[in-house]
Amino acid sequence: MWKYMPKVELHLHLDCSLSYEVVRRFVPTITNHDYQTNFVAPAKCRDLAEFLTYTKAPLQLMQTEYGLRQSVSDLARQLQSDHVIYAEIRFAPLLHILMGLSADDVVGIVADEIRRQTQHTHLQMRLILCTLLHFNERQAMITADLVQRFIKDGVVVGFDVAGDEANFALDNQQKSFQALGRVGVALTAHAGEYKGAKNVWNTLTTLYPKRLGHGVRSIEDPALISYLRKHQIHLEVCPTSNIQTGVYSEYRQHPVHKLLQAGVSLGINTDGRALNNTSLCNEYQRLHETFGWSGREFYQCNHNALQAAFIDSDMKAYLSKKLVNT
Ligand SMILES: [Zn+2]
Repeated sequence: MWKYMPKVELHLHLDCSLSYEVVRRFVPTITNHDYQTNFVAPAKCRDLAEFLTYTKAPLQLMQTEYGLRQSVSDLARQLQSDHVIYAEIRFAPLLHILMGLSADDVVGIVADEIRRQTQHTHLQMRLILCTLLHFNERQAMITADLVQRFIKDGVVVGFDVAGDEANFALDNQQKSFQALGRVGVALTAHAGEYKGAKNVWNTLTTLYPKRLGHGVRSIEDPALISYLRKHQIHLEVCPTSNIQTGVYSEYRQHPVHKLLQAGVSLGINTDGRALNNTSLCNEYQRLHETFGWSGREFYQCNHNALQAAFIDSDMKAYLSKKLVNT
């Protein structure tokens, strides 16, 4: 029903999105059962830490130029079949240097493949580089430096911190966010995914991001909701992912509807198409069935996401016409 609606996705991890088809190209003997066991997280994990263990298998396949290029082209195909017109893909380059590629090689290859895959298509893709909460300050600064050096080529557009919010603090990340914030690089940060509103406040006042990955537990503090509205902080909401990691026990308990009603800018995302075993089409259908959302709400979310995208106003205006015209 929602398949042909043009969509925008801002929160999507490259290493969480390897389809069965592409994994079979790396490991021709893999069965669908083995794929489901190792590349797709269970519908209910014990916690975020257990969920994150499912990135191990895809990361092993993404240590070579071939592996990285195949992962990008596979994801571009999935996005096109979901009628996504604009996507920001994110990944942590330092997780891909185990077999001899340098971090520069890794970013160069992924950015080049993104450019190749989006030529002559209706899909625009950009790249966000991630530091991780368990990284030390040096690793965070190396990632920030990659952003600064690659941003001028036009594919890399921003910086993020991801990882295990339950078990790691922001201390090692602060310097890298400050360095990029000073030179005007667009920033987003995972927060309020697992921990509550207090951690969202802490992230906002320590890292100063313009967007939050998830941020859904902000609903627990009305003053925070006012702040998000006032400062136009956009929430990259990934409903199915939050059920999998145990933040909410079922879809109808997810605060996405309340957040939209409260006037917070938010968009709908998958987080990872394989690990989360979902697509935007599937998320839209579940939102329709659970909260009665239809074209109006989906348009609003896509419009909000486009306004919060890390691209210039000309590109936003160009893509915005595609949202309206269909
Ligand atoms: Zn995420």
